[in-house]
Amino acid sequence: MKELLDFEAFREGPEAEGLVRRVRELVDGPTALMEVCGTHTVAIGRAGIRSLVPEELRLLSGPGCPVCVTPLGEIDQTIEAARRPDVTVATFGDMMRVPGSESSLERERAAGADVRVVTSALDAVKLASEEPSREIVFIGVGFETTSPTVAAALLEAERRDVPNVSVFPFFKLVPPALEFLVGVPDRALDGFLCPGHVSSIIGSNAYEPVAREAGIPCVVTGFEPLDILAGIVMLLEQVRDVRSGGAARVETQYSRAVRPEGNPTARSLLDETFDTADAEWRGIGAIPASGYVLSQDLMHRDAAAKLGIERPEPAEPEGCICGAIMLGRKLPGDCPLFGTDCTPRDPVGPCMVSSEGSCAAHFRYEHRRST
Ligand code: SF4
Ligand code: SF4
Repeated sequence: MKELLDFEAFREGPEAEGLVRRVRELVDGPTALMEVCGTHTVAIGRAGIRSLVPEELRLLSGPGCPVCVTPLGEIDQTIEAARRPDVTVATFGDMMRVPGSESSLERERAAGADVRVVTSALDAVKLASEEPSREIVFIGVGFETTSPTVAAALLEAERRDVPNVSVFPFFKLVPPALEFLVGVPDRALDGFLCPGHVSSIIGSNAYEPVAREAGIPCVVTGFEPLDILAGIVMLLEQVRDVRSGGAARVETQYSRAVRPEGNPTARSLLDETFDTADAEWRGIGAIPASGYVLSQDLMHRDAAAKLGIERPEPAEPEGCICGAIMLGRKLPGDCPLFGTDCTPRDPVGPCMVSSEGSCAAHFRYEHRRST
């Protein structure tokens, strides 16, 4: 077993030490827990949690970063939109550097395209009303946390009758991805650390099928290192129960923000704006009912249909194993390109591009520690 690090990263040192002791008591054989939230991935790396827990406990990073799971073909569609002379692409900043098959939005902007970084979808609606001769296209990426704000912006555009704003609805849904991950062969998985923000919208009940039908314990956790350690302890207690014949269940460590039924206002906004559809996850492939398309009433705001932009067949970067990492089969350090040909400064694959990607988090926090 490794030595304890100092607990500087924790606000409550003694409490953290107690939780780490409890983790060590509970791990009695090979165990794999997966977090599916980019912010959890970063917090685990930054606080050095992997180095505090027994080696038999593998902490895996799933498909928790919206940038990482956006397929190349979708990035290529946004690039094609940016190349249209009468189109302004409005996007969150983290999409700028993501490489498509042969360019990025950052490069297109340098070449003269009108690409603007905004902080919300409502900014895109504002832009559209200020510049009525241009089509403002917002790139909708993210999970159930960001999609309600985009839904609200689209409904606002309808209410204010702003015709020249549309969206690429590239959103992904967490519970169907978890159900899919459970069924992936050749991969042991004993429990999920479920994302806090997503769960505050959809509610912890959304994970019941994963726990009840697939028998995998789920614990919704917050984002402080202490929250994550407490969530790991709760998961390990469930894993022990399941191994001795008990039933898996959904528990919430982050009850200060998450209710079983979620946020009804946000959920009804989502229902009004989107229909559920099969979606492509980068590195993973199609997952049934894991994305959104615009509802029939809002179809006229679909950027791809409005601009007539097809999704091209993408070519994935050679040698990148992001897919295997997001499925929990490999760790970033298993990739031969990690830290040499592929770094956050010069990324090859999506998991190194986004700061919440598992390769970038490993490079920033854990690679340094081990070199
Ligand atoms: S739950 Fe919040 S922090 Fe985690 S990936 Fe989703 S948006 Fe990011
Ligand atoms: S290190 Fe780079 S190339 Fe390898 S899996 Fe991660 S992002 Fe892909």
